[in-house]
Parts: sequence; structure tokens; C-alpha cells
Amino acid sequence: MANALREHRVVVVGAGVGGLVAALQLAQRGLAVTLLEAAATPGGKMRQPHVDGAAIDSGPTVFTMRWIFEQVYASAGARLEDELELTALPVLARHAWGADEHMDLFADPARSRDAIARFAGPAEANRFAQFCRQARKVYDTLEGPFIRSQAPTLASMHGDLGLRGLAVLASLGPMRSLWSTLGRHFHDARMRQLFARYATYCGASPWQAPATLMLVTQVELDGVWSVRGGIHALAQSLAQLAVRQGVHIRYGTRVQAIDIEHGRACGVWLAGGERLAADSVVFNGDRSALAQGCLGEAARAATTAVAADERSLSALTWSLHAATEGFPLERHNVFFQPDYRREFDDIFAHGRLPATPTVYVCAQDRGVPGEPVPARDRLLMLVNAPAEARRTLTESEIDACEGHSFSLLARYGLTVSRTPQNSLRTCPSDFHRMFPGSAGALYGMATHGWMSAFRRPGAASRIAGLYLAGGSVHPGPGVPMAAMSGQLAAATLVAHLDSTSRSRRVRISGGTSTRSVTAATTG
Ligand SMILES: Cc1cc2nc3c(=O)[nH]c(=O)nc-3n(C[C@H](O)[C@H](O)[C@H](O)COP(=O)(O)OP(=O)(O)OC[C@H]3O[C@@H](n4cnc5c(N)ncnc54)[C@H](O)[C@@H]3O)c2cc1C
Repeated sequence: MANALREHRVVVVGAGVGGLVAALQLAQRGLAVTLLEAAATPGGKMRQPHVDGAAIDSGPTVFTMRWIFEQVYASAGARLEDELELTALPVLARHAWGADEHMDLFADPARSRDAIARFAGPAEANRFAQFCRQARKVYDTLEGPFIRSQAPTLASMHGDLGLRGLAVLASLGPMRSLWSTLGRHFHDARMRQLFARYATYCGASPWQAPATLMLVTQVELDGVWSVRGGIHALAQSLAQLAVRQGVHIRYGTRVQAIDIEHGRACGVWLAGGERLAADSVVFNGDRSALAQGCLGEAARAATTAVAADERSLSALTWSLHAATEGFPLERHNVFFQPDYRREFDDIFAHGRLPATPTVYVCAQDRGVPGEPVPARDRLLMLVNAPAEARRTLTESEIDACEGHSFSLLARYGLTVSRTPQNSLRTCPSDFHRMFPGSAGALYGMATHGWMSAFRRPGAASRIAGLYLAGGSVHPGPGVPMAAMSGQLAAATLVAHLDSTSRSRRVRISGGTSTRSVTAATTG
């Protein structure tokens, strides 16, 4: 088997976190891995453009579930803490509903409870504690049977949950929306809105997301870390680790087509006309790119595209290197508008930018105790936006949303000294260009309705030898989940090799075949 693995050539397409983890783990198992990335750097959405001389994390900023990365590094014989400097943030996020109406959530649950008691009263603080107990139960119930499992189905979940798990889900009311469930927990409208926002971490509307998405709250309450050098440093570090494991990485290399012969992936064609032979291919781009034929006609059959009305949220973002004044920024800041429903109706029902956007601001040099605040902040500012599945947003719509967003910040006391030189705006159409097939949707399919989680494809595609990894496949979006999907893709590929090799050995020992094990696994 060891020889078979060494001779098995895998091409991984895309160095997003899912592709990096898949490549790393396949190389660690001894396979010959080449990783091809269209961009000049690793990370995909974990990108870090330079604005006015400063490197600004302009994709994910909230780093959670560090245990997944501890496992990934350990699988390659390394320790996360030796490779990256992570600091737990004492304040998870600052939430504002006005210039003098702020509330923080803390890493320490007792501090959060006190803050809620001061902000919304002791009874609401008790309700928060009760909500946390339920969110914990939901998380513990779903982690094994859902998050860690290969493409779970309703039937497999039913079996894996056991009676106790089924009881936890039944107590939630499985058909209920997150918004409706939060209404049973919280009486203060602001608390309901705060916890409803976690649906957006899966690109969903709280009104359409299932109640089970309260597990995302639990993920954040379990800790948020600052990564020295930004989350992009995680991508760089994973790429270095992959190279140490023997992965050959080529940046600036776009794959134009996946070569499929006799129903099996057998290589890739690069944009320049070069062909690389492979025994298996792992695709880390958006799964819709395959189904839409962006990787060649033959690869269309690999999976299904996300339907236009099922696309998750996109975003309008500003990466800024600017002086700020007024509002006391933490690392993660959320500026809420009172009419939350309208925001999601605008986006999902009307396919337009929100007239009343909630604004998220990540101040990337704040929040780590003892670190000085610089004269100019490195900021990522983000508002939710529709994916461009049906039409392209116009420049004037985008300008109007920009106006609403910055004037909300000003009303809440935050002044940002913005100039054309220190600000970089990224629109849904830019995300679509960077991540082909996505229509700018950042999380694949929105987690809408309780069945949606079962409609994501797993790691094995419908074409032999072609595997899927990343935020648009199971278990879903977000840096840790996409990493988990990379792990699942590597495990699925190796399991297929194991079973092919076992069946060949049986046939060889039974005298029905003279092909070598290597030939069998690469054939
Ligand atoms: C603005 C923003 C904010 C976010 N905030 C958070 C957050 O706070 N916390 C969090 O956990 N998650 C967040 N996310 C989501 C998170 O970034 C993603 O879920 C995750 O990074 C997706 O990883 P992936 O493995 O799917 O790969 P991707 O990041 O989608 O990368 C795919 C890679 O494949 C490459 N590729 C595609 N096609 C080809 C081809 N044909 N040839 C060669 N290369 C190709 C692309 O260039 C890209 O590098 C955010 C995302 C964005 C954009």
C-alpha cells in the first residue's frame, strides 16, 4: 500500500483553506501532491491586499474553533502554537445600537452575563444563561453526527443522533427558524437581534435559517483568537507546512479544465495549454463552477450548481488604513440598525442592497491586551449584500449603500478619515471574479430551511477520482468548516485507495488478476 500511495499523483485545484488542508494531509499520507492556485498567494478568501502601505485582512477576520487547526497541524507532526502566534481575545465583540448604547460579549461567560444584566436587566441575563445551555447542547449533539461526518443524510443522522440527540433537536422544534426560537429565549429585541446575526456566518437570513444554527453562537462563545500577521498568516503557514510535507505548489496557475477519460478524472489542463496527468483531482473552488462548465464540459456531471435563489450572502467590503475618532473600537464591532427584518428582505426577497445595513467593522490592531493602538487603524468594514445570481448591482446602488453605511457609523460616533488612496472597495462582482462560479456568494448555498444542511454535496463527487473540498460542500462555510471539508476530502480519497487496493489484493491472491497494486490504484 505504501508504494501505491507514493505513486498516486493528486492535483489539488485551489489553495483556499480546504485545498491547503487536503493537500497537506494527502502528502502526509505519502501521496504525490501538486497544488495549483490561480492567485499569487495562498488563502483564497483569506486574502490580505495592501492598502496605502498596510496589509489588511479582507476576508475572514473572526478566528474560531482553534482545535480543528490543532488537529491539522498535529496530523503533520507540527504544533499550531509553534507555527503561529494566537492570542485569545477577552472581548468577543462590541455591539452598538446608538452612540451611547453598547454591549460587549466576553470570552468569560460570567462577564457576558454581567454585561447583559447591566444592559438589558437581570432577567434577560438569566435568559442568556439558559440560551447558552441550549446552544451548548445543540452543538454537542451535532458535532459528531453532522459536522465531522461525511455528507450526512437524514437517515444517517437519525441513526447517529441516538434517542438523547433526537430529544435535544425535538425540544428546539426542528422546523422553527432561528429568529422564532430566539424569540422564545430573549425578551429584549436587541438581544434577539444580536444572536440572530450568527445566521449570517453561514450566509443565511435569521428568518430562514433553522434553529439549529444557534450552534454557531456556541462556536463563538467558545473563543475568538487574534492571529499575529492576520488570518492570512494562517494560509501562509499551512502552505509552508504543506511544502514541508512534500506538496509542490504552483501559484499564478489557473486550471482551465479537468481532464476526464472513461468516466474518471485523469489530469488537468492549465490556462497556458499545459496538461498535468493525475490519478485523482481535488477541486477547492466553488462547486457551481464545475456544474456550470467552467472546468470543462465533462466535469459538469461532478455535482450540482447552487440555484440562483439558494445562493448565500455576498458582501460589500471596504479595506481601510485610516485614522478613526470617536467610537471606542474593539477588535470586532457590530453597528446594528433597528429594522433588521428589512435588511434580509432587501437582500433575499428583492435581490438588492439593504437600505438599512448593519455594519461590521474589524479593527485589526485592537483587542489584544497590552498592544498599543496605532495612529491609523487597519479596518475591514463589511455589510451584507445579495449574490449577483440574477443581476449585477449598479454603481449608483453601491454608492448609495456606501453612503448609508458610513453615515450610520457617523451617527453612532465613529468618524473614519477615508480618502480614495486609503480605501479599497470590494463588491459582489469582484468576489465573483476572484471565485468563479460563485456569483459572489461567499458561503455557497445559504443554510435556509432545516433540510438545507443535507443538500450540500460531500467530498466524493459523481465522477470517479474527482473530490470536492471547501466552503460550498459539506460541512459548510467558515474557515474551520472549510478546513474540515479538506480533511474529509483527503480521508475519502485515501479510503477509496485503501478499498481499491484491498479488493485488488484479494483478486491477486485469488489468482484472478495479475495487475500490480500500483497499477490498480492509478488506473
Ligand atoms: C469578506 C469575507 C468575510 C468572511 N468572514 C469570515 C469569518 O470572519 N470567519 C470565518 O470563519 N469565515 C469567514 N468567511 C468565510 C471564509 O473565508 C470561507 O468560508 C473560507 O475561507 C473558504 O475556503 P475554501 O476552502 O472554500 O476556499 P476559497 O477561499 O473559496 O478559495 C478557493 C481557491 O481556489 C482557487 N481556484 C478556484 N478555481 C480555480 C482554478 N480553476 N484554478 C486554480 N485555482 C482556482 C481560488 O483562486 C481560491 O484561491 C468570510 C469570507 C469573506 C469573503
